[in-house]
Amino acid sequence: MANKKNPVKKSPITTTDAGIAAASDENSLTAGPNGPILLQDHYLIQKMAQFNRERVPERVVHAKGGGAHGFFEVTEDVTPWCKANFLGKKGLRTPILARFSTVAQEAGSADTVRDPRGFALKFYTQEGNYDLVGNNTPIFFIRDPQKFQDFIHSQKRRADNHLRDNNMQWDFWTLSPESAHQVTLLMTDRGIPRTWRHMNGYGSHTFLWENAGGEKFWVKYHFKTVQGVENFTDADARAMAAEDKDFHLRDLYNSIAKGDAPQWRLEMQIMPFNDAADYRFNPFDLTKVWPHKDYPQIPIGRMVLDRNPENYFAEIEQASFEPANMVRGIGPSPDKMLLGRLFSYPDTHRHRIGTNYLELPVNRPLAPVHSYNRDGAMRHSNPPDPVYAPNSFGGPKADPAWELPGWQIEAGEIARTAYVKHAQDDDFGQPGTLYREVLSATDRNHLVTNIVGHLKDGVKPEMQQRAVQYWTKVDAALGARIRAALDGNRAAR
Ligand code: NDP
Repeated sequence: MANKKNPVKKSPITTTDAGIAAASDENSLTAGPNGPILLQDHYLIQKMAQFNRERVPERVVHAKGGGAHGFFEVTEDVTPWCKANFLGKKGLRTPILARFSTVAQEAGSADTVRDPRGFALKFYTQEGNYDLVGNNTPIFFIRDPQKFQDFIHSQKRRADNHLRDNNMQWDFWTLSPESAHQVTLLMTDRGIPRTWRHMNGYGSHTFLWENAGGEKFWVKYHFKTVQGVENFTDADARAMAAEDKDFHLRDLYNSIAKGDAPQWRLEMQIMPFNDAADYRFNPFDLTKVWPHKDYPQIPIGRMVLDRNPENYFAEIEQASFEPANMVRGIGPSPDKMLLGRLFSYPDTHRHRIGTNYLELPVNRPLAPVHSYNRDGAMRHSNPPDPVYAPNSFGGPKADPAWELPGWQIEAGEIARTAYVKHAQDDDFGQPGTLYREVLSATDRNHLVTNIVGHLKDGVKPEMQQRAVQYWTKVDAALGARIRAALDGNRAAR
């Protein structure tokens, strides 16, 4: 409101994007009051042309999302396991950006659908950006990147009528038994978090840490919500989708705006390097967890999100997370999904945002960049001479001391084969444990209702039968309950 203390600010004159003052915000330049419009109205042409190009392609996956800025703080001594600079001292804080999202839905879709949630983090460390691009589940549907595009297509839209089709989902899942663990988790109440603040985040993949003495450890990241895990039932989620499609986006923004900054505790599972070879599960298989009793969770830090973006497009839509961004002391593991993602994320950013996406303020590191990469569309800060390496003019030089940790490869023949199986590797064991030993009676009832609701939503009888067989392999009693519910035989409960 304008008053004596706060007079209305005098508006500046509108300009073109070249800073040239515009003569009218209302009328196009015409030959006489009735036109025609003249092509020389550069201000009008620029407005129309710019508007036509406002959208960058939405992400093929994780299109609908939101995020916030904050910090990560080290709360314990991490140096026995990792020499990463940002983990170097208790109390050390690193600025971060977080983005949460659904996976299969389009940009304008409802937040409260049953889907895994993306949990992507960018740590702006003093030694370069570290990105941890996880989900709200510790596992995934598949273990080989060869199947990723097909998996996502099965979650998206049909070729003929452009509709989503649960038949495609169950077809893919039942033909891909490695999906059983993630589908079980997805169909529990955790498949629809109440808000982004009320879900855990997991790095999901196994990563390699190295300490200053050169000792190596396989690790998994678990971000535990301090707000507590809370979920929506199917019915509540549907009601919320009708009431507010942007419920999760709004909740995060409003919480932070009123000073209620959400927090997560970072707990690590840490496996001595040599345990991996004989561990009962393949520790690099993304469809498996490491049971907590084998590798307990060790708290090392906390993450706080306390600053909303001021400009969604600039800071969230154009944010580019890439698992390939790893900093000194942290390396990948033989997890095939992770190795595939090291390529696919930067590749999609080059396509979606442009080759120089890392120059945008939200993606730019705090650490100085001394690279020989140059030119390309929209480049605005080309590196100086010399433009090549090696050179005798004092240009940047690489240093082997900064190599990320790796492992020795027992190379067999080049072949397209599955992982070598470990003693207890099978696709249905861990989801069976989840069903029998972790879920409460109420959770199990909801699991059955959620699965049956999904299977009754347009899924053909023969596909339903395949799904019953799939769930029977997870647990015979679970399979029987689903069969009975599909048959309408409530007595079997
Ligand atoms: P634990 O009993 O030590 O851990 C079970 C974990 O399951 C909990 O810590 C919790 O993970 C998660 N959980 C609890 N309630 C639910 C629920 N209603 N829906 C889904 N997940 C829930 O057993 P194990 O470590 O031996 O794991 C047993 C099974 O639990 C696994 O096969 C896997 O399916 C599931 N699980 C295991 C996790 C792990 O990293 N070991 C992580 C998540 C699930 P959290 O503390 O992360 O919330």
